[in-house]
Amino acid sequence: MAMLHEAKNIGSSSAEKHPFDVDKIRQDFPALGLRVYGKPLVYLDNAASTQKPVSVLDEEDRCYREYYSNVHRGVHYLSQKATEAYEQARRKVQGFVGAARPEEIVFVRGTTEGINLVASTFGRGRVEAGDEVLITEMEHHSNIVPWQMLCEQTGATLRVAPIDDRGEVILEEYEKLLNERTRLAAMVYVSNALGTINPVERMIEMAHAQDVPVLVDGAQAVPHMKVDVQALDCDFFVFSGHKMFGPTGIGALYGRWDLLSAMPPYQGGGEMIRSVSFAKTEYAEPPARFEAGTPNIVGAIALGAAVDYLQGLGLEAIRQYESGLLDYATEALSAVPGVRLVGTATHRASVVSFLIEGAHPHDVGTILDREGIAVRAGHHCAQPVMDHFGVPATVRASLALYNTRQEIDRLVTGVAKVQEIFG
Ligand code: PLP
Repeated sequence: MAMLHEAKNIGSSSAEKHPFDVDKIRQDFPALGLRVYGKPLVYLDNAASTQKPVSVLDEEDRCYREYYSNVHRGVHYLSQKATEAYEQARRKVQGFVGAARPEEIVFVRGTTEGINLVASTFGRGRVEAGDEVLITEMEHHSNIVPWQMLCEQTGATLRVAPIDDRGEVILEEYEKLLNERTRLAAMVYVSNALGTINPVERMIEMAHAQDVPVLVDGAQAVPHMKVDVQALDCDFFVFSGHKMFGPTGIGALYGRWDLLSAMPPYQGGGEMIRSVSFAKTEYAEPPARFEAGTPNIVGAIALGAAVDYLQGLGLEAIRQYESGLLDYATEALSAVPGVRLVGTATHRASVVSFLIEGAHPHDVGTILDREGIAVRAGHHCAQPVMDHFGVPATVRASLALYNTRQEIDRLVTGVAKVQEIFG
């Protein structure tokens, strides 16, 4: 059978301008050589978590073997080496997101913890009964529930900006929802369920016009495009390491210095203090103020290695390559009779969410798995998005920089197999 990738050439012109050697890149990822049920793995669950390149794995290993100790506390050689590497990782993350200074980067467990930190410190100090917090209908649960909890605790109201049937925020509605009661806005940069790239610059501008500070959930943005928090002019930005080829259990919160330095601590304990007595504790300056206890030292250092890896390939080259691949996947799947795409925004990254007529997404996921194809079936922690489209779940293929057109062809063949089974 003539495969689609041979017959079509979508997006190749941009790839030619920025040569991107995906075969070579794939060699960096040991997991991509796995076989599943005897078939070569096709890994299309990158929005949930990405595979890791050798450079990240090696840095973790090297750290534990050669320069591991607790950070910030020791005068001895190893502690100083580990501290240096940990703080260097912070500077790498600072450069990666374009923060003005390293102290604006707080290491957290991931996006979820970053949002909870902001909600329970900045949010608690700012939001009162009668106030409003504005989010959008396409948020991940981790950018809904912490704000809902904040509203319950304070008597504020959670307002939700609607999306249209393509999966785009309706900007006029967004603007209308911003008012003198709005104390905080939080929005996803790239939707994990739909792939929509939100016009966050515009939305931040609208919020700032009403003096509303903004948190951007960048979990699905950082693996796919260059982010510059100063150009975006956001007040907070959060992301997870494990979705950008780094380890699990580490992520970062960017906060504008003037806001961070005025915020109370999140958790109490060691590391986050200047001095402690039973009468009074004085807190350290950020970022230490928000990093109570022994941090994920090796995770942060390996996240630094992931930043190096992405920057080595070039974020713009990655964006262009993936954009061609996403066009290819979108066109290939939408050409299959009986397949319905969920989320057709003009600007999308990485994600194709779809349904196959007559087949439950979970069955689709199971059948594809037997073909060696890893996709996700479910609500993708975005149940309100599913409600909007009137479906309980979708099948989600999410792409990363190492995926290929041949893999998309395998997915399309797998979809045909599902359709055969479900007649
Ligand atoms: N926000 C978005 C858009 C996501 O896709 C995810 C994870 O899927 C999260 C937040 C939560 O990330 P984590 O589980 O790493 O905290």
